Amino acid sequence: MTENSVKIAVRERPSKDSREKCVDFVSKCVVCDSRPFVFDQIFRSESSQVDVFTSLAAPLVAKTLEGFNSTLFAYGQSGTGKSFSMGLNPDSFGSEAMGIIPRSFEQIFENVENSGGQTISISCSFLEIYNEKAYDLFDSSNIQKPMHRPNDSVKKEIKSVKGAFQLLREAHKIRRIRSTSLNSESSRAHSIVTIHIFKDNGNGSRIKSCLNLVDLAGTEGVRKTGHQGMALTEGNHINSSLLAISKIINTLSIGMKPISFRDSVLTRVLQESFSLNCYLALLVCISSSKEDLTETKSALQFAKNAKNITMSSQLSKE
Ligand code: ADP
Ligand code: MG
Repeated sequence: MTENSVKIAVRERPSKDSREKCVDFVSKCVVCDSRPFVFDQIFRSESSQVDVFTSLAAPLVAKTLEGFNSTLFAYGQSGTGKSFSMGLNPDSFGSEAMGIIPRSFEQIFENVENSGGQTISISCSFLEIYNEKAYDLFDSSNIQKPMHRPNDSVKKEIKSVKGAFQLLREAHKIRRIRSTSLNSESSRAHSIVTIHIFKDNGNGSRIKSCLNLVDLAGTEGVRKTGHQGMALTEGNHINSSLLAISKIINTLSIGMKPISFRDSVLTRVLQESFSLNCYLALLVCISSSKEDLTETKSALQFAKNAKNITMSSQLSKE
């Protein structure tokens, strides 16, 4: 694992109000409240979905196809473009606004078509974690029932991009029914789409790898716990899983293998993907509106901490 295998990027949501901004952009640096934050990649508000996919996600998809487990997280306050960037809304499929998840399927199936003598099978699972309980969006018979074992998700085999889009459409419907029936806003749940790849080269060599595409719960739960409409437990659960993720990214970014996965359901579900030779990307979505200064500053700080090379990050508790 090299430091290069963890990439941190920031994406600015297009602003409704261009007059007052709480951030400035200088080269690969975001300046917020007079403090500079440096990241691997910065996507200004005018960046397209293709730009974000090509620079940040496509290299991870390529690594997954080579056999390395990879994970991409979208992090940030609600309304900053996490779901837009990830592409969970089926209305965007096939359009310019299509996001990372459907584009990843396109890249993978392009590879399958050009794979020569190899046998490649693709399957997918789709979970949502709400209040520390995992729900399987591919298990339509148990929409409201949390899973007993979050690692035993339904894996649906996928034969084409069209088939992938159809599955995501069905899961999207279930997601809406589930969130209505449990009275949970989707912004308070983590959504995890996992694409499993199995390659058989025909000469005895086999490769198994997966790509996790994670749309994290809105971070306002972290600081505004107890704020209007947000239950204290919801905020605490979101807080503890984001903290657990940050610890793991931090440990991997210094080339160490994380040892503590028990802090949250999210890290337990993703545990198998976090090996020493895995690849990670964090897309931090921010608003540059002045009224979002506190949330934006805190998201930038989270991103900075995620790749901070400090000794304290190695002392993960077990
Ligand atoms: P989040 O998932 O972080 O809560 P959303 O992805 O739902 O936020 O984005 C909030 C709104 O802003 C949506 O209507 C979305 O389509 C729009 N939006 C976010 N980012 C962009 C962007 N880069 N370009 C165009 N519209 C965007
Ligand atoms: Mg969202």
